Amino acid sequence: MRTAVLSDVHSNLEALRAVLEDSPYDRILVLGDLVGYNADPDAVLTELRDAGATLIAGNHDLAVAGRFDVQWFNDVAASVVRWTAERLDPRLLDHLSTLEPIAWSEGQLLVHGSVCEPATEYLRDTGSAAASFAAAEFELCLHGHTHIPAAFESRGGKVVELEVEGDRSSIEFVPGRRYLLNPGSVGQPRDGDRRASYLIIEDGRAEWRRVEYDVATTMRKVRDAGLPEVLAARLEVGR
Ligand code: ZN
Repeated sequence: MRTAVLSDVHSNLEALRAVLEDSPYDRILVLGDLVGYNADPDAVLTELRDAGATLIAGNHDLAVAGRFDVQWFNDVAASVVRWTAERLDPRLLDHLSTLEPIAWSEGQLLVHGSVCEPATEYLRDTGSAAASFAAAEFELCLHGHTHIPAAFESRGGKVVELEVEGDRSSIEFVPGRRYLLNPGSVGQPRDGDRRASYLIIEDGRAEWRRVEYDVATTMRKVRDAGLPEVLAARLEVGR
């Protein structure tokens, strides 16, 4: 079973298509923030549905569905939440509204932010990783939200962060240890590498992959839609 793990697609159709075409997979998991920030919410949700992806919701998806207060967003993010909610196909909005920010899939725990706060917590250090390891019984939990690839391992209660930077970083799962893995962001990477980031899990191994996509087209669509210029500019630098 070869599993592709995506997160934070954020209405970026060009990045999503590049990732889906990058390598074969048997199963796709998407860890929320399907929409927001970029200009193709309908096409992204349709593409994910057609690909048979297992979806959970992120804070942006919940806000578009009216289930999370936009007052918690900065002005730029809130403006795109409103823009998306006004335009999204009603049937796609209905589907988005059914998604939760946490779910189990074939024995693996999927969360958008963290196990403790599935919609909102930024899990980016060993302290918050330890809290999530303690909050549920899982061997492997997949999380997103930070837009930064990351891996945490629990070895008999001691939590360490594993290095996953660079092209095609990978780790081997050690039996008896537990893992929290973040694929990074497909649609708005923030680690200084503008290429779409995702994760492949197969045969006891996890491999982070980076994929070039047509950034110029996504930037043009953001500008043509009248969305904030900062959202186009950040795609070019991956910040
Ligand atoms: Zn996000």
